[in-house]
Amino acid sequence: RANRKMHPEDTIVTVGGVPVGGKKIVVMAGPCSVEGEEQIIDIAKHIKQSGATIIRGGAWKPRSSPYSFQGLKAEGLDLLNIAKAETGLPIVTEITNPGHVEKFIGKVDCFQVGARNMQNFELLIELGKARIPVLLKRGFSNTLEEFLMSAEYILSGGNENVILCERGIRTNETFTRNTLDISAIPALKKLSHLPVIIDPSHASGKSWMVESLSMAAIAAGADGLMIEVHNDPPNALSDGAQSLTYEMFNSTMKKIGAIAEVV
Ligand code: PEP
Ligand code: MN
Repeated sequence: RANRKMHPEDTIVTVGGVPVGGKKIVVMAGPCSVEGEEQIIDIAKHIKQSGATIIRGGAWKPRSSPYSFQGLKAEGLDLLNIAKAETGLPIVTEITNPGHVEKFIGKVDCFQVGARNMQNFELLIELGKARIPVLLKRGFSNTLEEFLMSAEYILSGGNENVILCERGIRTNETFTRNTLDISAIPALKKLSHLPVIIDPSHASGKSWMVESLSMAAIAAGADGLMIEVHNDPPNALSDGAQSLTYEMFNSTMKKIGAIAEVV
């Protein structure tokens, strides 16, 4: 079902009224983690002003260490909805537990499946039963074939609204947090009809690289970007080093606007 051969035309997935795929570039932005009401509202307003049309923010955070901040969980989901009420921006947020689908319905416009859960098949099966879009991130050690098979789990359940997200893979290089696999863009576009977006934040782990990787992703044919933006990156509870300040995000959006039409 993800196969281009069965479905020659590009699929456009609509997230809370915002089209992902097609001619225009979509930009989803926001903090790694929702940290509080004031924080998420302030970020939502700033990213909207700069031209983002979807807000991202983690409520359940699958952290590598159990001692790291684990997210505000249900409260985080409610705070995202307050930010949505203030700005109108639809929400994409990560779901980590197949038992949480009901809890998320009505509170999210798009589920995010994180890299660590790309092969959580029980979760994929539950999301296949839902009728809300799913942004599926590529696992950092998974092949494109495995990535597309995970998309297949969701599609075969009857949920046709899948967005593929390349967020960097593990290679021998350690300078960057991961290595952005630019080849994944033309490859996934050839193999599949699904929209493909790039997350330059987790790919690089460095805020100063995000703009250049964003430009590269667009040049290579990506349908959009997911970018981490924080009100105070040095004090972020997660992923501060890769989070853009409002100023950096605004100037990145200007550069993107010069080479592409943004939805
Ligand atoms: C995130 O989007 O904050 C995240 C945890 O991403 P990934 O699953 O790609 O590591
Ligand atoms: Mn993050």
